Amino acid sequence: MDDLLAQIELLESSANLSTSISDVQQAIDMLTAARAKVAADGSTAPLTLAKLQDPFKKTLEAAQKDLKPIYAGLNKYGKALDKKFKDKPLPSAENDALSSHPSLINRAIAMHLLREGQFGVASTFVDEANRHPPHPEPTLNTPNPYLTESWEKDLAEGTFNSEKLQQQFADMYHILHELRHQRNLKPAIQWARERSEALEARGSNLEFELCRLQFICLYTGATPDTQDTAMDTDDENPAGTLSAWAYAQQEFRPFQKRYAREIHQLMGSLAFWQNVQDSPYARLFYNESAWEEVAHAFNREFCSLLGLSADSPLFIAATAGAIALPYLLKMQSIMKEKRTEWTTQDELPVEIPLPSQYHFHSIFVCPVSKEQSTDTNPPMMMPCGHVIAHESLEKLSKNIKFKCPYCPNESHPRDAVKVVL
Ligand SMILES: [Zn+2]
Repeated sequence: MDDLLAQIELLESSANLSTSISDVQQAIDMLTAARAKVAADGSTAPLTLAKLQDPFKKTLEAAQKDLKPIYAGLNKYGKALDKKFKDKPLPSAENDALSSHPSLINRAIAMHLLREGQFGVASTFVDEANRHPPHPEPTLNTPNPYLTESWEKDLAEGTFNSEKLQQQFADMYHILHELRHQRNLKPAIQWARERSEALEARGSNLEFELCRLQFICLYTGATPDTQDTAMDTDDENPAGTLSAWAYAQQEFRPFQKRYAREIHQLMGSLAFWQNVQDSPYARLFYNESAWEEVAHAFNREFCSLLGLSADSPLFIAATAGAIALPYLLKMQSIMKEKRTEWTTQDELPVEIPLPSQYHFHSIFVCPVSKEQSTDTNPPMMMPCGHVIAHESLEKLSKNIKFKCPYCPNESHPRDAVKVVL
């Protein structure tokens, strides 16, 4: 890969078209000047043309000469490309799932464009897909798609209208923009508040996390609203502390029960208003990634409420496919050599080493509290192998040795390990 990068660098630095372009421009200028001269006085035509010939020829020759290093550079780059990406055949499409599900492919592309915020491209794509509804070609061993959502049917029948989804994604991008670039939490908080119940049912902490960040911004004087007061008080910001306190009084009440500990921490930090960076609460206030974290959490919850995953499935599928392709090619050649066939459906005969974020797991519900696990209440595994939620562990153990609710084993809560799903 380094060789390829070096070639690109060389191509960019040495071989650019600007000298050739200026040569050609010079030739054009000469011709235009000559034309103007001849047009003004026809009798000078033979002389003007004769005078033009030599310098014009020289300019064109210079243009040709300046093009040479570009050709040479492109040639070298082409060779480096060939060397790096050897021409390999694609796996033959014996299990061609794609041509039997064209409407699903169209949907994946349309959804990808919409969720990437490419609204113009998406609506053109949907228009064209609607004008030419796809005709599925049934292929061997692929089941017919089972269309459950109304818009899936719409896409299959060529009546899909992306406007509603487009509006929703436009809202999402607006809120994300405000979060990331304006550091303005208000639209996100309003969005979360309107969907408070749905978010809580999902075990999401988003609404509280947004409000907590708002509290921190007021405290440290980092919001657009309080910039004036922040400027004249700098480190010690009594106005900020007071407005954070007032904000907590006004907004934290609905969170009292669920986030008592976090709220106590925030209120405790108020006592350190003069030197919060030296206090035990400093990590709450000086977390560089806090904004990106809430933006990411918002993105995930927004898509979840629409019934979508946080990342584009098309992107995930294409990336996973690119990783898997070399393994599949190798497998195919081995199978050909040994004249064997893989007959099991919907399962790969080789393991594909995908990165950890491409491993998908289901949710965890604590068998004791019956609550879904969250970031603040993760599943914990005791030495006996049984898993319960962190809060249940705390309640059952009271920080001393305790008996597992599911087997006779006794263990200490400090021996439990967090399970990452
Ligand atoms: Zn156990």
